[in-house]
Amino acid sequence: MTMTADPIVRDAPPPTRDLYLALEQEFGARNYKPFDVVLSRGLGVWVWDVDGKRYLDCLSAYSAVNQGHCHPRILAALTEQASRLAITSRAFMNDQLPLFYKELCAATRSHRVLPMNSGAEAVESAIKVVRKWGYAVKGVPTDRAEVIVCANNFHGRTLTIVGFSTDPTARDGFGPFTPGFRIVPFGDATALEAAITPNTVAFLVEPIQGEAGVILPPRGYFKAVRKICTRHNIILILDEIQTGLGRTGRLLAEEHEGIEADLTLIGKALSGGFYPVSAVLSTDEILGVLKPGEHGSTFGGNPLACAVARAALKVLLEEGMIENAEAMGARFQAGLRGIDSPAIKEVRGRGLMMAIELHPEAGGARRYCEALRRRGVLCKDTHDHTIRVSPPLVITGSEVDWAVEQFETALTRPEAA
Ligand SMILES: *Cc1c(COP(=O)(O)O)cnc(C)c1O
Repeated sequence: MTMTADPIVRDAPPPTRDLYLALEQEFGARNYKPFDVVLSRGLGVWVWDVDGKRYLDCLSAYSAVNQGHCHPRILAALTEQASRLAITSRAFMNDQLPLFYKELCAATRSHRVLPMNSGAEAVESAIKVVRKWGYAVKGVPTDRAEVIVCANNFHGRTLTIVGFSTDPTARDGFGPFTPGFRIVPFGDATALEAAITPNTVAFLVEPIQGEAGVILPPRGYFKAVRKICTRHNIILILDEIQTGLGRTGRLLAEEHEGIEADLTLIGKALSGGFYPVSAVLSTDEILGVLKPGEHGSTFGGNPLACAVARAALKVLLEEGMIENAEAMGARFQAGLRGIDSPAIKEVRGRGLMMAIELHPEAGGARRYCEALRRRGVLCKDTHDHTIRVSPPLVITGSEVDWAVEQFETALTRPEAA
């Protein structure tokens, strides 16, 4: 490794925004293209940059911070646990993991929990589990298990996961990929049923396709999917890493559809915005196929993670955040739909998981996001013409109304904004 001189000289003036930009440019891998805002503080729905300018966070770290930045009760659980015991490995038990299991099972009506760290790890773990279930329980011949997934899915960034992505940016140049996946269109139950073979073990799907641009399923789709999976003895895996934990106005988005998954994945907001925690939730029959030594993670289920996740779940349930997401989502969406701008093609969403799709002639979503940023609202463009809007679930009515005003100005007069 070649070393270069430390660019922050001792006794130099404190770093400025431009220095942070330069350092990121010079030393970071270039796998992100962030807005050039440098944040240094957050509280609730608000974040501040290094120059002290305040912004309403309408991305919420892709829903990792549903409870709001630096929530005091989660922060207290984090610091208390960190000062007592942070990691043991799973070679020994700890006094947080069993309580985390019990509380999470009670909240989600699950039998068992497999704790992991990132969302992608939870997805990978689920794929291992359903393959094992296919061989051990369903009787699929060795190494023939198939998992069906949807076009335009987003389930993470590991090799197996990008291997079944349909997004060329995520896939191209990273092969060869893991075999055993079939892709069907999202929202088409007939296509799902047609893709099933005797070797199919699971259908992996997002209740709402988040990264694809907040794509809602057609009415009745998931009811049909549920029936098909039951009829063919296939595990229905719902990836609720983004839709789960209150984002859509329900604890799990499956509740909107009136169905229950066989296996549910959560992550992101299980962290309370502090410390990565993910989980695979399922039944005795399915998670029971894993035997000691067959799967694991050094950090999975560590006491610090569990204490944080327990507090993250507790505040979500006790502080009315899920109900607030439903009420504020309705108010926010009504406000956005009321904006009279030729740029807007559609406003869609469920709860506080929202998106504004612009007409292609509007010149791309990025410039509107830049205009919003100048007005103190942080939003992310996706797929060129869509602006995602997903503030923390603790947003108030007056904050929603203020945000809608900023959207109105940015979407009607982006250059002036
Ligand atoms: C973010 C996300 C993931 C991946 O989570 P990471 O923690 O980034 O690995 C998986 N599935 C969905 C639906 C997501 O939104």
